[in-house]
Amino acid sequence: MPFETHRRPVFPVDSPADVTALVELLGQAATDRELSETLYDHFDYVAGAHPEWFRPHQERVILELLSGFSVPFGAMCVLLRGAPDHCVEHLAARPARYVLEVLAAIGTEAALTVAADLARGQRGASDLEYVGFWTPPAGPLQQRFSSHQLAVERRPVADLAELLAAEHPVGLPLDRVVRDPETTPVNWHYLSLRAAALPGVPAWPAEHLHLLDTHLSWGVTGAVGEDGRWHDESVEAGTPDDDDERDNDGPDGRAMVVLRPYDDTLTYCNGHIMSTPDVFGTVGGPPIGVYSNPSCRSCHRLMFHVATVTNHLRGDGDGFRSLYICETCHLTTSAASNWN
Ligand SMILES: [Zn+2]
Repeated sequence: MPFETHRRPVFPVDSPADVTALVELLGQAATDRELSETLYDHFDYVAGAHPEWFRPHQERVILELLSGFSVPFGAMCVLLRGAPDHCVEHLAARPARYVLEVLAAIGTEAALTVAADLARGQRGASDLEYVGFWTPPAGPLQQRFSSHQLAVERRPVADLAELLAAEHPVGLPLDRVVRDPETTPVNWHYLSLRAAALPGVPAWPAEHLHLLDTHLSWGVTGAVGEDGRWHDESVEAGTPDDDDERDNDGPDGRAMVVLRPYDDTLTYCNGHIMSTPDVFGTVGGPPIGVYSNPSCRSCHRLMFHVATVTNHLRGDGDGFRSLYICETCHLTTSAASNWN
């Protein structure tokens, strides 16, 4: 079975009937925390590999079984997406702590409108920003990530020529990604992604988006023009406690990535796919939801989450590295966070 769980028992997930059996357990899971945690891993796998097996149960789960239904937010977006409006009305009539996230995950115009009205009346707007939804002063919530998730798989490159020709290179020389390598606070290239290869990501003025890093801060922002290279950089306040050696700044640190669809060839474990060999992150999907996400330094809208990888993609630092853009202001932010 291409999913792993450290929790017991393990149920089969090999057919639509198996998913029906999992759904039947949700009533019991509402009061059985251990069972709920076990089902978390199972439904995360269903969302990644066989979301169509869950579809017939969507309404019943929302209307009757929600309190036992615990999944990573990205999986919730897949499984509950597009639920009919009477489900939205049902949720709006009984607002509870988790209802905002469920409405955001449903993602229809009706759901996003109701959620925005609820969020503006309480402190829910900031909670929603953790999972990638922005509450504008008026109108429905705005989803600030692509619903189309892809796995980031690392592959070796033979030499600099192959690196420079790669669609999504890892470990580029800095002068390829910033205009002024002498004055920039950026000192590390993680990954460049070819914008046109990223479904659901807004139009971008340059061919590539760059995920960069600095030892000076938890986050660094740059403006981008048609040449694609960062300029006018600014760093967030605060210095990471990070004295790791950047010892991979040589041929070994160079690589490329390929983007793989979510399916049953990935390993799903603890709410992520990074136990899959050579997979170090995700393009698309919501931000990881543990840390607050950047707002644009110019227009102040929540930035669009493009990708999150672990530092192991190009051994440096410790934790997650996330790429965000403001497609309106042509600004890019790379955010770093330690393992929590
Ligand atoms: Zn902006």
